[in-house]
Amino acid sequence: MFINGEWKDAENHATRPVINPANGEVVTYAPEGTIADARSAIYAARNAFEDGVWSGLAAAERAAYLFKIADKIDEYAEELTELETMDNGKPLREAGFDVADAAACFRYYAGMITKPDGQTYHVADPMQAMVVREPVGVCGLIVPWNYPLLMSVWKIAPALAAGNTIVFKPSEVTPITPKKLFEIFEEVGLPKGVANMVTGAGPVVGHEIASHPEVDMVSFTGGTKTGKHIMKTAADTMKKVSLELGGKSPNIIFADADFETAVDYALFGIYAGAGQVCSAGSRILVEEKIYDQFVNRFVERARSIKVGPGYDPSTEMGPLVSKEHLDKVLSYIELGIQEGAKLACGGKRIDRNGFETGYFVEPTVFVDVSEEMRIVQEEIFGPVVVIQKFKDEAEAIKLANSTVYGLAGAVFSNDGSKALRVIKKLRAGITWINSYHPTYNEAPWGGYKQSGIGRSLGTFGLEEFQEIKQININLQVEPIGWFSN
Ligand code: NDP
Repeated sequence: MFINGEWKDAENHATRPVINPANGEVVTYAPEGTIADARSAIYAARNAFEDGVWSGLAAAERAAYLFKIADKIDEYAEELTELETMDNGKPLREAGFDVADAAACFRYYAGMITKPDGQTYHVADPMQAMVVREPVGVCGLIVPWNYPLLMSVWKIAPALAAGNTIVFKPSEVTPITPKKLFEIFEEVGLPKGVANMVTGAGPVVGHEIASHPEVDMVSFTGGTKTGKHIMKTAADTMKKVSLELGGKSPNIIFADADFETAVDYALFGIYAGAGQVCSAGSRILVEEKIYDQFVNRFVERARSIKVGPGYDPSTEMGPLVSKEHLDKVLSYIELGIQEGAKLACGGKRIDRNGFETGYFVEPTVFVDVSEEMRIVQEEIFGPVVVIQKFKDEAEAIKLANSTVYGLAGAVFSNDGSKALRVIKKLRAGITWINSYHPTYNEAPWGGYKQSGIGRSLGTFGLEEFQEIKQININLQVEPIGWFSN
């Protein structure tokens, strides 16, 4: 753990093994932080914030640190990529994209923070009114295991750019690349106490961050259930809350779409990251006329995906992140069968020779599903997709919006007006037309409905980490004379 500029064990020296999901082996041990450790980090961040060692710097000086961090991420790109694959299981090519995106995200916010902000207002003489943006203060940042490095950076880069100090908690399952990131912070000489990292269990360390009165804001990415708990906990101290939660995103394929393009992106939409992606296209809705043809081609291609350890360059889909998560995904597959859905392919753990100790699952497709089934409504967060049928545009929209989630969605059609018409009816924050998954530092990321509150990335992502203050200046300094004497 990194607290007030120093590397620390847990105060009681407890540790937790970190497992390589490709083979079940222990790769290292992470400190199992306690409430006392979380408090040390919170006080360090509070002191650093009050001292102004960070918020008191000119934006250009903070930006210079962020540019240096980006350069270091590039310098260590190969090491970070390998560590990410070892810790999370994702194929090297996916991890490589994440590392490049992480560096770009630091550069993006380094550039943004030196640009003009604030507003002035023409109010009645002799007053001048204006608005300035200020850091929120101490920000608690809690991230999951599916993009251990990138999800950390999506929060840390804008939080630091805005002048906040941070208490960061990675997932207990994947603390390795976050630790390397904090080594980089040390290397570039970030002032002590500005960035603190505590590892430990969510209900212990995470809960302390969400509840402590000296934390001004909590920004969380993870499951919707945990997000609701954090929001309730944070309410007691009226913290600013930003939540990026789960999804069950629809991918709508019309008969007039470019068929092979639609199949290709639909595969990418669900099986990239082995489906452990909040925006995964986990419900494919296909127009009746091409339904059978689509299912046949999709299943044919899903069967040929090369599943294997992430460090093998020929691997196209890696293992699930942990034994616990593997069990959860397998139990959803079992549930789908019990609910009466038809398994069109996959459905099993892969435990052939060499794979027995890893957490591999076959790319899985369910058809003949109905709207109320739990496998259609709930986030499985694995390589499991349901393919539904629709008659017309109205039914496609109805089915697409029929879950509690509203994170992402896509439409495939060669009729531009229809595609845009349908996208505008989708109750979701991130959408694509004739594409799936591309994400940009410039554009806001977040959901409608139970997929969250607030946005990451873009100008919106910076604003999450800023307070807004109005300043009214009297240009004619004399008594107002409201009361007679
Ligand atoms: P969680 O949402 O529980 O974990 C995300 C982060 O929150 C982790 O750092 C975790 O710590 C922490 N946390 C857990 N409980 C608390 C708490 N009470 N207070 C504060 N922080 C807490 O994800 P899980 O790993 O349990 O996965 C459960 C499901 O959530 C998945 O199956 C998937 O459906 C969904 N999910 C969605 C993600 C997304 O990007 N939208 C990402 C990850 C999961 P710790 O690691 O120690 O538990």
